[in-house]
Amino acid sequence: MTQTPPAIVVLGNGSLATARRIQQVFPGALIHGLDGRVQGADRPYAEFGATLRELYRQGSPIIALCAAGIVIRTLAPLLLEKGAEPPVLAVAEDGSAVVPLLGGLAGVNGLAREIAAALAVAPAITTSGELRFGTCLLNPPAGYALADLEQGKRFVSDLLAGQSVRVEGQAPWLDKVPLPHDSQAARSIHVSHLQREAAADELLIYPRNVLVAVERVSEQLASEVNQALSAAAIAAPALACLLADESQMANPLLHQAAAELNVAVRYMTGASNAERLKLSGVSLHSAAQAGLLIGIGAEPLNVERIGRGRGRLAVIGLGPGARELMVPAVQAELARANDVLGYETYVRMAGPFRDDQVLHNTDNREEMQRARHAFELAAQGRSVVVVSSGDPGVFAMAAAVLEALHEVVDDPARADWRGVELEILPGVSASLATAAQAGAPLGHDFCVMSLSDNLKPWSIIEQRLELASQADLVLAFYNPISRSRPWQLGRALEIVRQHRSAQTPVTLGRDIGRPGQSLRVVSLGELTPEMVDMRTMVLVGSSTTCTFPRADGGQWVYTPRWYGAKPGA
Ligand code: SAH
Repeated sequence: MTQTPPAIVVLGNGSLATARRIQQVFPGALIHGLDGRVQGADRPYAEFGATLRELYRQGSPIIALCAAGIVIRTLAPLLLEKGAEPPVLAVAEDGSAVVPLLGGLAGVNGLAREIAAALAVAPAITTSGELRFGTCLLNPPAGYALADLEQGKRFVSDLLAGQSVRVEGQAPWLDKVPLPHDSQAARSIHVSHLQREAAADELLIYPRNVLVAVERVSEQLASEVNQALSAAAIAAPALACLLADESQMANPLLHQAAAELNVAVRYMTGASNAERLKLSGVSLHSAAQAGLLIGIGAEPLNVERIGRGRGRLAVIGLGPGARELMVPAVQAELARANDVLGYETYVRMAGPFRDDQVLHNTDNREEMQRARHAFELAAQGRSVVVVSSGDPGVFAMAAAVLEALHEVVDDPARADWRGVELEILPGVSASLATAAQAGAPLGHDFCVMSLSDNLKPWSIIEQRLELASQADLVLAFYNPISRSRPWQLGRALEIVRQHRSAQTPVTLGRDIGRPGQSLRVVSLGELTPEMVDMRTMVLVGSSTTCTFPRADGGQWVYTPRWYGAKPGA
């Protein structure tokens, strides 16, 4: 199982050197630095509190280079919420102290030991069980599940009080642990996949070495699996995964059942269920009703090595550019991606990436090819992200990806593409980001158009401009001009001017949310195509759009929510 690399959070340049030393211990870990104060961080952030809480909610391990008190106060509001508690540590700026704070069951003390070793200091470990045994007995390694945490806590305090213990079953990770072993001990650590009531004086741990091969998927699948396990006297937490035929990859009932059982689904094709067990390295334990076969491995199963997983393709919107304007779901998707595809500028904007993530930069124009390539990668079971700027559904990759899928919807040879889990994650589109900076020019009905005639005839653009102008809609122009399309914007403005007064406010947003951004408000009469380039968003007001001075010298632009007579006037 891969462990998420920790986020290293720094507040000032003074701690950067320590942060870099810690980063070397954890491949893939990124340094998050306060924007404007930390030079050379991998990921700049605007607000410490919001960033820390976001990372915590995403379950990311956190190493904060600041006072322990600051971290505790910042995360305090979240501590009463249910959910996983990732490891959280405070490390002194100069690396002289490593303090594990939260996530005792998620391995925080282990992390503290690793960091402290790298910094050549002693970790400030305060957990008694850890201190005595050098490991958290209540946090068995990946592949094992503790039966009952509360009982486990009592068990560990008994050992700390001087009781001895014997180990029943295979617990290889305990070999190096200095437990008070005694073959006659009353207390035992019992490792087995069999269902049993834990005796008062035993610590029960299940190896996740059980696999269920599924023949038929019904709405009752989860309860059928539970019944089958129970009839075979196998503990439910010992289940590591379900195994199904590849034809079931997109079956929502299967995913529902897996979610209910809290296990992964792996897929195979072209073998009988019994053969599939063999290929998975487990031996047949029993056959249950509903075509379920139970297989048991000698050790916890390495699920990633069994058959293959369902691939995932996410088409994401980065927003205009600034990290704060990227939705959290998109940030999480980028973190889980194996492959990232897109126009080079956007791929760079989406980074930094870890060494294990593969970047596929392509030319901006090869959209259909990029979409097909994305499906090919995802169909191999990989987690693939296609990046767009702004929103992926606005003149961007989402439609191209769907078009590529639509083309093969009846093609049996491309059933694997249809098995891919496809999701489209929205972003803040350039028109919205520009409007927000100007005030509220899109406060009333508006119309969004691309002025590019690369993929549509110019005549339809003219017709739409004519009608939208007549309809007195605010107009948002994407792709307003480019070197290969030099005259189109001028012609578009001619059409608009036939219906709008020269005083109509026009908002020009260039590189909004990116370094060097600029915002300009001009009148329709003043506007010339030279003021606009392909990185500009053009928002042409309607008859009601108005402006007034803002305190800082610029202008507010807004279109009132009402039309005709002002209500109450
Ligand atoms: N999917 C993108 C739009 C792609 S079309 C979105 O939703 O924003 C590309 C056009 O969008 C550019 O020609 C420009 O008109 C506009 N654009 C994209 N990003 C911009 C930004 N940061 N500032 C201003 N305009 C931008």
